[in-house]
Amino acid sequence: MRFKIALLGGDGIGPEVTAWAVRVLETIGTKRNHNFDFVPVKAGGAAIDEFGEPLPKQTLEAAKSCDALLLGAVGGPKWDSLPGHLRPERALLGLRAGLGVFANLRPAALLPQLKNACPLKDEVLALGSEDGKPAFDMLIVRELTGGIYFGEHGREGSGSEESAYDTERYSRSEIERVLRVAYKAAAGRRKKLCVVDKANVLESSRLWRETAQQISRDYPDIKTEYLYVDNCAMQLVRAPGQFDVIVTSNIFGDILSDEASVIAGSIGMLASASIGSGKGIFEPIHGSAPLIAGKNIANPLAAILSSAMLLKYSCALDAEANAVENAVYAVLDSGFRTSDIASRDGAAAGEKIVGTSEMGEAVLKALNNLL
Ligand code: NAD
Repeated sequence: MRFKIALLGGDGIGPEVTAWAVRVLETIGTKRNHNFDFVPVKAGGAAIDEFGEPLPKQTLEAAKSCDALLLGAVGGPKWDSLPGHLRPERALLGLRAGLGVFANLRPAALLPQLKNACPLKDEVLALGSEDGKPAFDMLIVRELTGGIYFGEHGREGSGSEESAYDTERYSRSEIERVLRVAYKAAAGRRKKLCVVDKANVLESSRLWRETAQQISRDYPDIKTEYLYVDNCAMQLVRAPGQFDVIVTSNIFGDILSDEASVIAGSIGMLASASIGSGKGIFEPIHGSAPLIAGKNIANPLAAILSSAMLLKYSCALDAEANAVENAVYAVLDSGFRTSDIASRDGAAAGEKIVGTSEMGEAVLKALNNLL
């Protein structure tokens, strides 16, 4: 089969880690007779430098003409002082809206190989998990094109009277469509859905809860629970094993998934898929990590695991997606660790601390052995 993939490395560590996701897809192509045609595009800081805007029209058009978008990360201190509408991160909002992706799937599991990189104690990890084992395996479904990131913002007044506002607004249909994605995901997992909101304070959250209560009737096999976001933030570090699928708004999902990434070992491990209208955006959940850019120390595994999600959701190549995941597990089994996922007693545990390129090469080798 032939697939056209828009490739947006972006800024900071974005291009370094995405390069390995590309090599992984090329390996799949060679070994399994598929063609991945990559269409390089620019957005974010790199586009501001070249075209004076974060999301040039031609980038969005190219992304729309492809089957999927593989993205690294955008942003960095160089562009931090620009006004809001010109900042690199604006490109992400434009791409998400332009490609009609409204649900961001963020799997967060503690791999047994990375237990030493998790800051939580075994007894905490075991609490609430179904089999009493110190582990967790959750999927965070974050609404992606609504809420406060897309609502009206502005400033009024001046001097000490200056004020600023951002508006959280959701329609029932926006909430319903992301809830249905989450219910569908829960049906294929452990059949538990936790709806996270702040319904004790926010009207928009009350609409989330009312809509969830209605929609839940269509999914009698799924156990629906509700948590306030502050409690959820606490439960994630108190008993993460209790969660299967979490569904929540744009801003709450953004924050909770960063928290989940820390207990999974590192933000450098978490991949994501943004889906909705048919085209998908696949990217690690981390940002451009400017302080470690160009030093060959960034963890490429989140980007590589994002390419596995691309194979699954945009190409329907589930076996190949599994092979990529298994290659990552095999490399971790052999003790390869970038510094972000190394345990404190790394040497004793037989770990080998490697850079971005060594880790990428190790995954390619393992993948070649598996295919
Ligand atoms: P960040 O995710 O870039 O970095 C947070 C921390 O995690 C840093 O200590 C960083 O060194 C580390 N880290 C991140 N990815 C890593 C990896 N692959 N391997 C090892 N360590 C890794 O978040 P930030 O510092 O808040 O933001 C930096 C820039 O990225 C900002 O301009 C921000 O707006 C942007 N950003 C972009 C995206 C995106 O493109 N989707 C997402 C988040 C932040």
